[in-house]
Amino acid sequence: MTHVDTLIIGGGLAGTTLAWSLMHRGQRVAIVDRGTKRSSSIIAAGLMTPITGKRLALSWRWPELRPFAGHFYRTIETATQTTFFHERGMVRLFRNERECAVFANRVDAEFRGLVQQPEPLVNEQEFANALGGFAMPTAAQLDVKAYLDCSRREFREAGMLHEVEIDVAMDIVPSADRVICQPLLLEARTAIFCLGYHPIPNPWFPSLQFNSAKGEILTLRIPELREKRILNRGVWLAPLEGEMFRAGSTYEREQLDGEPTERGREEIESRLSEFLRLPFEVIDHAAAVRPIIRESRPVLGFHPDHPRIGIFNGLGSKGSLLAPFFAAQLADALCGTGQIDPDVRA
Ligand SMILES: Cc1cc2nc3c(=O)[nH]c(=O)nc-3n(C[C@H](O)[C@H](O)[C@H](O)COP(=O)(O)OP(=O)(O)OC[C@H]3O[C@@H](n4cnc5c(N)ncnc54)[C@H](O)[C@@H]3O)c2cc1C
Repeated sequence: MTHVDTLIIGGGLAGTTLAWSLMHRGQRVAIVDRGTKRSSSIIAAGLMTPITGKRLALSWRWPELRPFAGHFYRTIETATQTTFFHERGMVRLFRNERECAVFANRVDAEFRGLVQQPEPLVNEQEFANALGGFAMPTAAQLDVKAYLDCSRREFREAGMLHEVEIDVAMDIVPSADRVICQPLLLEARTAIFCLGYHPIPNPWFPSLQFNSAKGEILTLRIPELREKRILNRGVWLAPLEGEMFRAGSTYEREQLDGEPTERGREEIESRLSEFLRLPFEVIDHAAAVRPIIRESRPVLGFHPDHPRIGIFNGLGSKGSLLAPFFAAQLADALCGTGQIDPDVRA
């Protein structure tokens, strides 16, 4: 039997970030992941935005979560000698008069320090901009796949990564002071489920029901586009490398599968064409389901009767922003050095 402090089940954004957070606190960690090709984390855009949605809502706990996330990702970039965190800033273009009015009402009191209105806001050869908009310099983009790839490489080299599927109901057996995972021949002080969206409820946490939303996303080639910031006008357009960009995403609550649809592609393309003046070519089209449990808030904590079993899930559509702060909170709770906030507790 191998002995570790924490076994993490699921190596997406939640599990990977928790693994780093525990390692930074000196824990011995094992991760098991079945290696899904198109998980929510692998296709996610990784955007972090202070003001979001049609209602121009302020992102929950932005002033503390954003610096925490930035510092965390920079630390992992240094440790892995990789670049995946891009402080690009975002431009939001108004779609209608109502958005202009909401902005005008709130800009002085609520958006102070978060927005700027440079002149010109965008290059009008590239983007139609009839109603104006605003820039958010602190917006950023995590290349989630690159972050996961380099983390996985480190974990594999350290012998921490088990690339198999676990039977959640049968393979994890808790007792008063430990958890046994027989297929891995592994004994842990605690096991934490970081499984993202799954259509069948986790038998250890049956009361946590998903209220998830599928999202579709396109990868595009736009040879003439020079913009380096993220643009948003109903859909967002974010730079990748060179001529490549990503655009998305849809929000679908009925059909919760990982299949890209013609309808999703048309929706993104038509909204993009409302403001992008340049020709584009679709290179890839992907879909996945966002793990939403409570709107905008993650869920973390321990089983009421089996405290050796825990959960970190519900990162929703803001996983890149939420994961570092709340992984640290769960890691502190696991190390006995901190507590979990009541409004995110499982
Ligand atoms: C289209 C789209 C766009 C998005 N855009 C953004 C964005 O711009 N900004 C943002 O912050 N967030 C965005 N998100 C949301 C973000 O991707 C999620 O919050 C995040 O990826 C959730 O990570 P997770 O680790 O909880 O779940 P997942 O990514 O689903 O990871 C779960 C992992 O568990 C593994 N697993 C599951 N079951 C088992 C098992 N039985 N045994 C072993 N391993 C198992 C899977 O292989 C997977 O690797 C987007 C999501 C989608 C779908």
